[in-house]
Amino acid sequence: MGISRRTFLKGSALAAGAAGAVALNGKPAEADFKKPALRIKGLKTTTTVCPYCAVGCGMIVHTKNGKVVNIEGDPEHPINNGSLCSKGSSLFQVANNDLRLKKVQYRAPNSGKWEEKSWDWAMERIAKLMKESRDNNFIKEEEIDGKTYTVNRNEGMAMIGAAALDNEECYLLGKFARAMGVGYLEHQARI
Ligand code: SF4
Repeated sequence: MGISRRTFLKGSALAAGAAGAVALNGKPAEADFKKPALRIKGLKTTTTVCPYCAVGCGMIVHTKNGKVVNIEGDPEHPINNGSLCSKGSSLFQVANNDLRLKKVQYRAPNSGKWEEKSWDWAMERIAKLMKESRDNNFIKEEEIDGKTYTVNRNEGMAMIGAAALDNEECYLLGKFARAMGVGYLEHQARI
């Protein structure tokens, strides 16, 4: 079917007018993670908090068959209203990254090469070194102005919590630190 120049211009003007009406009268649709767009349709949606820094931006993670396929800022989160910094925006790469180290790498003192070790080996070594450090640096009593006080202080160790820890984990870390006599106990959010 042929189309005349007049019919074409008339149709174009009507289309432009309709688009203008939407732009003038319509409000931009608000982002809502409960109404997924086509690109994330059918994916499982989970909310979480960015593990990188103490700002604690809210995120939405989309997964398919247990695999992370998309991460973005949560528009309903009061801290970031959906925005993320460049570091948070790259969080996807933590879950999907062939270059990420997944096994323990150990370089012995004075050695120039890395060796692969098991997690059991690493945990045992960390525990052993912590015990040694505590025993070698533990101060049971301290004398102040001629009076002796029990201090049970470990001056050879410090501990720091990070934004990725939740309340319960921070509580446990605090308990553990004090049981070890650690006085130098800090959190990333304060420094
Ligand atoms: S997205 Fe950026 S600013 Fe927000 S918590 Fe993560 S690292 Fe911090």
